[in-house]
Amino acid sequence: QAKLLGRNTYSLFTKAMNDTMLRRFEIEEQLSMALERNEFEVYYQPKIDVKNRSIIGAEALLRWRNPLLGNVTPDEFIPIAEHTGLIVPIGKYVVKQALSFLNEWKKIHRKNYTMAVNLSPRQFRDKALMSFVEQSLNDENIKAGSLEFEITEGILMDGSSYIDDALNEIHKLGIKLSMDDFGTGYSSLNYLRQYSFDILKIDRSFIKGITLNKADFDLVKATIAMAHSLDLLVVAEGVETHEQFTLLDTLGCDLIQGYYFSKPLPAKKLLDFQVAQSD
Ligand code: C2E
Ligand code: MG
Ligand code: MG
Ligand code: MG
Repeated sequence: QAKLLGRNTYSLFTKAMNDTMLRRFEIEEQLSMALERNEFEVYYQPKIDVKNRSIIGAEALLRWRNPLLGNVTPDEFIPIAEHTGLIVPIGKYVVKQALSFLNEWKKIHRKNYTMAVNLSPRQFRDKALMSFVEQSLNDENIKAGSLEFEITEGILMDGSSYIDDALNEIHKLGIKLSMDDFGTGYSSLNYLRQYSFDILKIDRSFIKGITLNKADFDLVKATIAMAHSLDLLVVAEGVETHEQFTLLDTLGCDLIQGYYFSKPLPAKKLLDFQVAQSD
């Protein structure tokens, strides 16, 4: 095939492939040193109670700045960290940072904030994860109910017993479980029933359309009603405009997260942010 398309097409193709592989290789190499070189920082995006417009907690979102590669987005490096297994130590770092920040945040504002941390499939295979989490909760004097793990449907499709074990362990400890990016991938209502989820996060691709087209509006409306009937708290992701916010309020959505209220912020900024809010 390549021969028929001619020499130039062929070499362009190989060049593109080489570039992709080279980029991946560089990320892998740099990522393996990033923890010890202190190149990570955890940012926090506030979650807002729609009814009284107050901050109830935050989601921890990892940021990576590398001297060679510059800022690399989580969408690019998390899958690579996942593939290489580096997500295991990196994920522990996120849990540790997030809980230590939560401890400080709660102390300063005397509020019962929650903290959500994203977990990807590979982290569930680490048998030591849950004891690490328990230890970290103890160290920071945080109740398990203030911690929330966000997972996507992909994890549940795996069907492995260690996933079930880990989810049961999470439930037993009293840590909250959240279904992230709901509506993308292979959404199954069955999963929501089978596992003990507490929170459902509607993916931002649906929120984007709610003020623009009836299909997305109807979908979001039905999702909220369905989630409530299953006793789940509903979070809308990626709320960017006042119109979206008002509409979600009307639909009875519990919590929102998005640039309309705040982008993910460095720890120090979030501490200041709330002070400014409550004054
Ligand atoms: P996610 O968990 O669904 O996180 C929400 C993403 O939406 C974040 O992207 C956030 O910055 C972005 N976002 C929030 N509000 C808005 C908005 O109003 N508009 C738009 N356009 N975007 C908004 P981010 O931080 O780039 O993270 C991307 C994904 O990477 C996350 O999706 C999550 O799946 C993964 N990720 C991030 N941090 C971690 C981590 O510590 N561990 C693991 N396992 N995955 C992580
Ligand atoms: Mg998330
Ligand atoms: Mg999400
Ligand atoms: Mg996502």
